[in-house]
Amino acid sequence: MSQDPYSPCFCGNGKKLKFCCQDILSEMIRVEKLVENQPDAAEKLLRQLLTKHSDKEVVVTRLSGILVNKGEYQEARTLLVDFLKAQPDEPRALLALADVCLNTDGFGSSRRIIHRAFQLGSRQYPRSVASLAVQIAQEMARRGCAMSVREHLALSIRLSEGEYRNSLMMQLANFESQRTIPYPFRGRLSLLPVEVSEDLQKDEAVARKVSQIGCWEPASIIYRRLLEKDPNNGALWFNLGLFHAWDGQLESAAKAMHRAAELIEEFDGAVEAETLAELIEMDLSTNTYGVAQHRIPVQSVSELLTVLDDAELLARVEDPEEEGFENGRVAAEYEFLSEALGDEPDPNSLPAVKGDITIVDSDDEAHRVALVVALDDDVDEVAAAFREAAGDLAAAAEEGAEATHLSRLPVECRPFDWKVHHINKLGGAHYRAIDQTRLTAAVEEWKQAAQGRLDNQAPADAAKDEANHRKVCASIFVLGVVANRMGYDPDLAQLRSDLGVPAPVALDVDENVNLTSLPMLQFERVADSELTDAQVVEFANRITLIGHRRLLGKALELLVSRQASLEEFSPMRAHLLRANTARENNDFELASECFEQARKSVADDPDSFRTKLELDIREFSCRLDRPDDPALPDLLASLRDRYFLKIPEIEEVIREELLSSSCEHLLEILEAAPSASGTLWTPGQADPPPEGEKSKLWVPGQD
Ligand SMILES: [Zn+2]
Repeated sequence: MSQDPYSPCFCGNGKKLKFCCQDILSEMIRVEKLVENQPDAAEKLLRQLLTKHSDKEVVVTRLSGILVNKGEYQEARTLLVDFLKAQPDEPRALLALADVCLNTDGFGSSRRIIHRAFQLGSRQYPRSVASLAVQIAQEMARRGCAMSVREHLALSIRLSEGEYRNSLMMQLANFESQRTIPYPFRGRLSLLPVEVSEDLQKDEAVARKVSQIGCWEPASIIYRRLLEKDPNNGALWFNLGLFHAWDGQLESAAKAMHRAAELIEEFDGAVEAETLAELIEMDLSTNTYGVAQHRIPVQSVSELLTVLDDAELLARVEDPEEEGFENGRVAAEYEFLSEALGDEPDPNSLPAVKGDITIVDSDDEAHRVALVVALDDDVDEVAAAFREAAGDLAAAAEEGAEATHLSRLPVECRPFDWKVHHINKLGGAHYRAIDQTRLTAAVEEWKQAAQGRLDNQAPADAAKDEANHRKVCASIFVLGVVANRMGYDPDLAQLRSDLGVPAPVALDVDENVNLTSLPMLQFERVADSELTDAQVVEFANRITLIGHRRLLGKALELLVSRQASLEEFSPMRAHLLRANTARENNDFELASECFEQARKSVADDPDSFRTKLELDIREFSCRLDRPDDPALPDLLASLRDRYFLKIPEIEEVIREELLSSSCEHLLEILEAAPSASGTLWTPGQADPPPEGEKSKLWVPGQD
């Protein structure tokens, strides 16, 4: 604390000390010394000061801060309210009161005071506003208001700097990569430009300005007044919808967005508004299904596993995930199947998995349990079947004991929620082919199933009437969002063409626009050829973060067609992502080509020996998705010849890969003597890594 009378006052209000708090300087220095280790003494001192200096903001906020730390919110609130009666516009007291109210009553009942604090405090005390915005974002996340979470985080980033800003950017990136949140809500949404008559322009500008500092209720109040005078302005309704959504008022947001969709003339803009309205309604809907769990005490775990291994409908998981349990360890995992597997299961009609059963063993008897997890409709049946199989080794059901709900999903997700019994030796490619078939079937069913949002018509029927085209296109987007959440990205352009609704008009993005700020729904429409090299990189980075396989495929094709963009993005990363996308599409020829391009891209690196080894193992691991791939034996022999002598531990890595893919038939190739070419070290070849470096080797499953 500077004691120079002409330096700015320690209370932070910008005045010089001499004209501000000089009379309490020595007491406040004592308070600061005490506050850390003797908060009670600091509190006592502040209370004494308060009797004479109840008009001093710094005394009031310091004392309220100590009270808040002690959990005495009520007294802190009274103190601040009393102070604000005399000085209603004091920003720090307002910010402190907003903080107290937010912590005690939640955002809903504190909106007014919070927005007032934002309005009066954001210019001088941006950091305090940012920290309130982060707390609101956390509350909104608990309430499931994703758009509000994102916008409050973005607000806090706008208002902060340095390390704090970086940590907020990380929080935002983390939010944006969460698959359970509809992807259009994870990207930025921006206010539309509006055309209003001259007498309304000033108010419209004020609304935008207060929106910039997070005051979305004040902004919506101004907009409501504008809409009384200009009720058929679609852009006004759209922006009002955003204000409400950012403010966590989902019902009002959905209504405004629906209205915008009716009024906006441009077809694609209207479809986007309708899609947002429907996604918001999906978040509000109680029409959900869930995953639930029964926790059943068990005993004699090894005996139990023997019994369960013999049960007809239970299949032991071949390599269970290594989950940690606080008081125990996973002894085994089982799938509860829809029908018995039999000795020769047909790979094309494998039973469905109705439930998962994890057996947790522990040294402590009380923590030996079976965790039975299934959809809420099935969980009781699966638990009963488990008890029957386990007999005396599992505790009997308690009267009235109900399953614990673990998560809930919108009912729209249900047609895309399946799990097929997994047999390692069938390979990843086989299961992806099954998924693809099921996805196609689910989309076909979707076309024919009546939907509330289409006035109880099926999309295929509704699409016959042009008047429904906006809603049908929005429904297609909603389908895409739901499928994305479940891990699939069907071809929406194909679907539009199948249903005979208009294709989206290509969006010509101005070269100054950063693609990161483009609404996610518009990524479908971006005109590839018009993008600058920098925008192509932004496109690819954005989609990689959001996680959308079909759009990622588009971004990567674009990236490899532009040398400058590719260099900027990192050729190695691009080729690997492309190989992975090809693998996900079961296009192994393309995947091999991508690995080859990745190898070429690192040819000149000093570290290329290790990178190439890594690429070889990745490609091998990818090929194991088809255990009967005729190229596998040669690939394996070449790995053996090139690496085993130089880096013996590679053999173990490969062996484990083979075993975990049930490719025992290839093990003999490992044991064959390497051919002579591998033993010779010819000049000009990259050196193998020195001893001690080898432990850094990439192994499958690491990324
Ligand atoms: Zn002062």
